[in-house]
Amino acid sequence: METILSIKNLDKRFGNIHAVNNLSFDIKKGNVYGILGPNGSGKSTTLGIILNVVNKTSGEFSWFDGKLSTHQALKKVGAIIERPNFYPYMTAIQNLELVCKIKEIPYNKIEEKLKTVNLFERKNSKFKTYSLGMKQRLAIASALLNDPEILILDEPTNGLDPQGIHEIRKIIKDIAAQGTTILLASHLLDEVEKVCSHVVVIREGIKLYSGSVDEMTASHGLFELKVATDSDKLMEILSIYDGISSLKNEEELIIATLNKQISASEINNYLFKNGIILSHLVKRKPSLEQQFLTLTNNKS
Ligand code: ADP
Ligand code: MG
Repeated sequence: METILSIKNLDKRFGNIHAVNNLSFDIKKGNVYGILGPNGSGKSTTLGIILNVVNKTSGEFSWFDGKLSTHQALKKVGAIIERPNFYPYMTAIQNLELVCKIKEIPYNKIEEKLKTVNLFERKNSKFKTYSLGMKQRLAIASALLNDPEILILDEPTNGLDPQGIHEIRKIIKDIAAQGTTILLASHLLDEVEKVCSHVVVIREGIKLYSGSVDEMTASHGLFELKVATDSDKLMEILSIYDGISSLKNEEELIIATLNKQISASEINNYLFKNGIILSHLVKRKPSLEQQFLTLTNNKS
């Protein structure tokens, strides 16, 4: 699969703040990537670096397998990293014509892109009459005018009402379905789950996880177990049970991570037959979801 962007050991410091810390990941053609992390975790800084508006401290990134200079490569990138800013007294069409003029691209894509973002009916309305959601959609249309290989969005639904959020997410999915690679930054777990095929989770500039969103949701969770006596025996008996991928001791508890679906009663039965009576048994949600929730609830 073609690599659109490769980031290696990227680092950015603002004085004492380590905004991006040794970050590495690849973007492959056709996927929808989310950079997920709480506010202040380095998402916008990372996007700024790859778009050449923020200088990196160290590390590397290369666009399109390094076949193009960053300057050339960025002509094949559509990005919205700031609040949409158009001329208030000009219509959608007039604003997009101006963008075409500045970027030296023909006008012939304007109507098509307005249709993509469901603004065709309002193409002759002045920008200042648009809702925030419509403004954001116009920004997306603008970023699509040059048929980019990849569309980059920073917190695309921030500040929108539920209807506006829904519309933007649907449009992003439609654009992805037409084959455009997408990279979006978000502090919202459910946004990434709903829109993205892949996720890079960061906190304080450090990558915590990267992989497919499916894998994340296919996780089978874990058990917390405890016995009054002999926890060594419990460990031993659990270790031969099919479906437990790892065991560890955490303070008073034994944590058993599952690689297939096992119910609490199944495991309880099995242990009872082996002479073990538990004093504590809890099945927890997938650990990654826990991690996500901790990330998004506590920090944002
Ligand atoms: P996110 O987009 O995930 O919310 P940012 O990339 O905006 O996070 O910020 C990451 C960290 O870098 C934060 O601690 C932020 O305060 C800091 N930061 C971002 N831009 C600057 C800047 N221009 N000068 C100083 N600190 C900055
Ligand atoms: Mg940001």
